[in-house]
Amino acid sequence: MKIWIKNPLAVLGDNCAGGILVENDQITATYGSGETPKDMTGIEVFDASEHVLLPGLINTHHHFYQTLTRACPPALNKPLFPWLQSLYPIWAGLSEEMIALSSQLALAELLLSGCTTAADHHYLFPGPLEEAIDIQVEAARSMGIRAMLTRGSMSLGEDQGGLPPPSTVQSEEAILNDSERLINRYHERGNGAMVQIALAPCSPFSVSTQLMKDSAKLAKDLNVRLHTHLAETHDETAFCEKMFSLRPLDYLESVGWLGDQTWLAHGIHFDDNEIKRLGEAGVGICHCPSSNMVLSSGICRTLELQEAGSPVGLGVDGSASNDGSNLIQEVRQALLLGRLRYEATEMTHQKAFEFATKGSAQCLGRDDIGQITVGKQADLALFKLDEPRFSGAGDPLAALLLCGAHQADHVMVGGKWRVSDGAVIGLDMEALMAEHSHIAKKLIS
Ligand SMILES: [Zn+2]
Repeated sequence: MKIWIKNPLAVLGDNCAGGILVENDQITATYGSGETPKDMTGIEVFDASEHVLLPGLINTHHHFYQTLTRACPPALNKPLFPWLQSLYPIWAGLSEEMIALSSQLALAELLLSGCTTAADHHYLFPGPLEEAIDIQVEAARSMGIRAMLTRGSMSLGEDQGGLPPPSTVQSEEAILNDSERLINRYHERGNGAMVQIALAPCSPFSVSTQLMKDSAKLAKDLNVRLHTHLAETHDETAFCEKMFSLRPLDYLESVGWLGDQTWLAHGIHFDDNEIKRLGEAGVGICHCPSSNMVLSSGICRTLELQEAGSPVGLGVDGSASNDGSNLIQEVRQALLLGRLRYEATEMTHQKAFEFATKGSAQCLGRDDIGQITVGKQADLALFKLDEPRFSGAGDPLAALLLCGAHQADHVMVGGKWRVSDGAVIGLDMEALMAEHSHIAKKLIS
């Protein structure tokens, strides 16, 4: 199969004004202005003259199940700790069906916003949810989206000084055994991997020190990545100082996590010296601007982190603190929030796109996605500027962010179209939304 994505209106990539050639799952040629494939035999043409062409956007942090608790009344207008404490008892009622529907809904929403690789952090395995990650793998495969599914965990209940209720935590042994099972069963390696697994103890206030250490060891033994929430709020810093007599980053280092196999969600409250240490170690940071604004958590120091050597990616975070899963809108949020901390000349629209593409790919330890270059996976997002919000726009790439693009017209993952004319191919979206919203009401009641 060969497709020439021809003459895009604009493109985020070098020397491809004439378009790109997709062969099977990869980009095999790029064309400068006026250039064409030499031999058109067997090449299908996709006229992109009305489309802005981006590398598929990459989401590096989410909690799919939280699409069931968006704008949830008990959690409204609260900072992180009270917000979590009002949601934990609701989340304790999750069923397998809820995991399936919330994962499908979140993945469809992401695809429609131009996302081609989605990471999720699932850390709730009470009672019937032993196979939560297996269910997510199934959802990602059926949707044809690339996925980094992290096996999350909580092992420090309220009765041991942690934040979550005891009914939501598991033993270290059960967590490690299941982690190993999932890696052996699902983790793909090398270029073009569609499903990957990483280990993701939830946060310093919900996981035992032993589990942090054991997870780092298991990740090293099995050569997979590590992910967790860190330095999200001042409450978390106070917790670490009280519980471990360490600041969050010192704690991370003490449990063997300070290395380039790790990417962190949020990474807001680091001082200059900590940023230097993170950069030197190559720790990735997933910036979650909407969530950080909703929970009044603070502003991630993205540009200093990048300057120090840390990959900086982007994440919508869970839908209880965003409360949408729209990745192109999140790129706009990163741009706008960044402008509150940095000069407009520093926090450019190109920089915001870089977070969601190349930076996110680095966070996930991948060099086969996130760029429109020969040899990379054909993961592409194409946007049209045909809504009133774009009318009169000058620079098409900047317009996507400044005018507020929210829906991709076409999306390709590994050379296969997954979104066409603004709809996920093969998915009855209305039926999925009806089932999803019905079961969300059941969970909250
Ligand atoms: Zn999160």
